[in-house]
Amino acid sequence: MSCFSMSSTRMNVSPARDHRSREKGLVVYPVYSRRSKGLSLGVNLFPSQKVCSFDCPYCEVFPFKTDFSFDVDLMETALIENIAPDLKDVCFSGNGEPTLSPRFKVAVDRASAVRRKYAPSAQVVVITNGTGLLRQDVFDFLIEKTREERFNLWLKIDAGTEEWFKTIDRPNPSVGFSALASIIREFAARSARNAVTVQTMLCSVGDAVPDEREAAAWEQTVLGLAGTGAIRNVHLYGKARPSPEDPLAQALPLAFLEKRAASLRAALKSARLDTPVETFE
Ligand code: SF4
Repeated sequence: MSCFSMSSTRMNVSPARDHRSREKGLVVYPVYSRRSKGLSLGVNLFPSQKVCSFDCPYCEVFPFKTDFSFDVDLMETALIENIAPDLKDVCFSGNGEPTLSPRFKVAVDRASAVRRKYAPSAQVVVITNGTGLLRQDVFDFLIEKTREERFNLWLKIDAGTEEWFKTIDRPNPSVGFSALASIIREFAARSARNAVTVQTMLCSVGDAVPDEREAAAWEQTVLGLAGTGAIRNVHLYGKARPSPEDPLAQALPLAFLEKRAASLRAALKSARLDTPVETFE
């Protein structure tokens, strides 16, 4: 493997509307984020290949392999090069689960320092499927991060039942549904207030669609987390981009997402919680 990492595109390159540049070995890539509602600088900790503890059928990372490796100094340089006045966030996502990278903590700390110095109004966002929380060092690190200003953890909670979890996320066999649900509850209980965004993908998988039992279980899960005060908002989103396994996972009608959102809003209101719930087609 090459000992250098490819850095990002330069500022004068238009931000992409998708994430395809991740598969070219870039470690920093500007994109328009529909959920951040503006310019986001994506950080990809896995420029050589996808690394993830899930195998979601809707995943939009196409198979690829490069000789590039992640380098935190080059990440920092590329972030500084691409800072723009309207930057919404620096977002760790990329080709897999960021917490699986051995450079995860140092990279997030370095990006946080860049944000503070060069983009004080932007956020640092970590998108995670939550499995990193099962490791004590990652759990402790992220708890501390939630106490920093302008840090937001986007936590994937696609399912309320084990059956749908196995269908929609296809986890590595070492990831148990109960253990993951339990550590997420513990994390929310200890996190700073309003530090976590719950994000949930709603799509069909083959002939399967999340049914009423799944919807009720998911709603109770999110309601319980919101009750801790840790949840800033909830994003329900649909499949909007191509995936390598198309047509296995398919978008559901917007009305399906809106029904789930309306039910959750009503449940939150009954519990006297004002957590915002948004849908993204
Ligand atoms: S958790 Fe994210 S990166 Fe991993 S398989 Fe699912 S969608 Fe893809």
